Amino acid sequence: MPAGYAMTDKLRAAITSDVDTLASIYKGEGCRRAGGYTYLEFRVGLENFSEFLRPYGARATLFMVGNDFKIEKNHASIRDVAADGHEIANHTTSHAQGFRHLSPEEKKQEIMDMDELCRAVAGVKPIGFRSPGWNISDDAIPVLQEAGYHYDSSVFPTSLSPALKLMHWYTSRSRGSMERSTLGQSEYVFAPIVPYRTRSDSFLRRGNDGILEFPVTVTPLLRIPFFATFLLSSGFGVFKQSYLALKNAGRPVQFQFHLSDFVDYGHPELLDQVPEDGKGYYVPKALRMPLAERLAIFRRVMDTLAEDYCFSTLSEWVGEVRV
Ligand SMILES: [Zn+2]
Repeated sequence: MPAGYAMTDKLRAAITSDVDTLASIYKGEGCRRAGGYTYLEFRVGLENFSEFLRPYGARATLFMVGNDFKIEKNHASIRDVAADGHEIANHTTSHAQGFRHLSPEEKKQEIMDMDELCRAVAGVKPIGFRSPGWNISDDAIPVLQEAGYHYDSSVFPTSLSPALKLMHWYTSRSRGSMERSTLGQSEYVFAPIVPYRTRSDSFLRRGNDGILEFPVTVTPLLRIPFFATFLLSSGFGVFKQSYLALKNAGRPVQFQFHLSDFVDYGHPELLDQVPEDGKGYYVPKALRMPLAERLAIFRRVMDTLAEDYCFSTLSEWVGEVRV
């Protein structure tokens, strides 16, 4: 335990989730169901996530997609998660995977349309943003500032970024080039790995006139990703090693889930909405692993985190970041 670290001084952990439906990610590709998507996963995934967090007293930041607010049967679920105290943040209107390559005007449209839908349906204005696929670029900073956003959480400064970019390019080979792009500008590999204020023209540099950035957590030095969907592939051992490296360095963490982590895609209603493997779409492991198995792993994660960390949403964290 590092000097000056008392048992009562818990570090901060934010639990976040990208609420990506099959409709958002695959946009119809691989959906064989007559009549299209049913959004069962939206309701079930949010209910399961909220129930999962309850014993820990943890409220999460949910990055949500505007198009899901246009579906009337989703409204009750959206209001329920807001009533449970979870923060709703902006994940664009159409889950624009190629967000980084959009013009500033198009970026603004993607942000503001979701913003309006969220205010109309949930009665709250989002103050945080995450680009789909963590795929952001420097020209988004003034757009977010003008739109009244207090923070961004799209920078993913992992050393595995070049490999992950290649893997995404290959596994999404049936898609257009915008959809095959991921993880933002290449130099973000070297961005700060703790919350920081950016320069107004660069996510790579600290400054005093940019936006507050909560980068996706990576380990000190090696910059190994530290989030749920990665954990399902790497196993609990890698998680524990990363966890100890973060805890011993006194680092706060942002632990990121996806909607799919909490949905049983073996459900008869969902089976014919899930794309098949090997057809040129990226299909995460969570879609194939039994839900009970995933929940058991995630409970070990939360039990471990709860020992040393206290949980808050990113909006609660905003006022307390020292930059
Ligand atoms: Zn997403």
